[in-house]
Amino acid sequence: MAADTAQAAGIPLVDPFGRSIEYLRVSVTDRCDFRCVYCMTEHMTFLPKKDLLSLEELDRLCAAFIRRGVRKIRITGGEPLVRRNILWLFRALGRHLDSGALDELTLTTNGSQLEKYASELHAAGVRRVNVSIDTLDPDKFKTVTRWGDLATVLRGVEAAEAAGIKVKFNAVALKGINENEIEGMIRFAHARGADLTLIETMPLGDIGDDRTDQYLPLSIVRARLMDPFTLEDSPHRTGGPARYVTVKETGGRLGFITPLTHNFCESCNRVRVTCTGRLYMCLGQEDDADLRGPLRASADDGLLDAAIEEAISRKPKGHDFVIDRRTKKPAVARHMSVTGG
Ligand code: SAM
Ligand code: SF4
Repeated sequence: MAADTAQAAGIPLVDPFGRSIEYLRVSVTDRCDFRCVYCMTEHMTFLPKKDLLSLEELDRLCAAFIRRGVRKIRITGGEPLVRRNILWLFRALGRHLDSGALDELTLTTNGSQLEKYASELHAAGVRRVNVSIDTLDPDKFKTVTRWGDLATVLRGVEAAEAAGIKVKFNAVALKGINENEIEGMIRFAHARGADLTLIETMPLGDIGDDRTDQYLPLSIVRARLMDPFTLEDSPHRTGGPARYVTVKETGGRLGFITPLTHNFCESCNRVRVTCTGRLYMCLGQEDDADLRGPLRASADDGLLDAAIEEAISRKPKGHDFVIDRRTKKPAVARHMSVTGG
């Protein structure tokens, strides 16, 4: 079927392996007010502003995916809340929640600006937010994020909760940094009724350090947690890489994202767009499609729709993460802050 007919008919996007694409992650900026050691070098070179999609272009792009069956959008970055006028985009996308075309609009944030924006995000329709906190020790927090302040982030978390937004925590497991704190972080999250998801470091982009030094397999973390806790496998699934357990002692949920040691591709329902409009069909592969060209070539969405359709027909079956043991360089050269987490 021609792309214009398909989109007019609202036919869902289905990849060659039968997976419906219902989840879009959109990176709105590669910039950030933190410099997490596993994510960026301290002196990052950011993209020229003219290369970024405008907020209006991001809105058009999201609308094109929603027409083809995307039900959930996650805004990410870089730090999404440092993009100027970002609330405009949340409000614009909120109209698809009102119409029922979209089930969920959410974001992943470092929390630095949450105190300021929580109530406006809630007004735009945001009901859940992922906040990344790798350690609850203020000094270590400074070491890991280089520029971040834990107290500010925790005030942001409280503001989100007070506004009626449910918070979920993400923490990257880092050898020698937070490995002895994970039990405490589980208790902290679960005590406030929040899930915690642990993430293994992924080899995305050169960060100037040796990543094999940071890498802490979650299989080890999980084994250690069996001592203080009883972990019961949970059927909870999001279509993404996380696998969940329920911690019997706290009653809360704990997720594990293990891209290097576990294959999660079979149920993958998601694609990612970078802040420059490149569509990545798989986080772990280099293949992509340019959507900025078609967006800028015409005010009509025909070219954009056709480019999306073509790209999804190339979504690969699985990923290919490797840290090359000889060069210790990542197999995927782009940074997480470009693709979005
Ligand atoms: N700035 C926001 C934040 O930190 O939540 C959103 C973007 S950040 C790239 C999204 C998530 O990716 C964060 O939870 C972060 O900890 C994680 N992340 C960044 N680089 C990573 C890497 N190399 N391996 C694993 N997770 C990474
Ligand atoms: Fe910024 Fe998020 Fe990357 Fe940390 S992980 S440097 S907060 S984009």
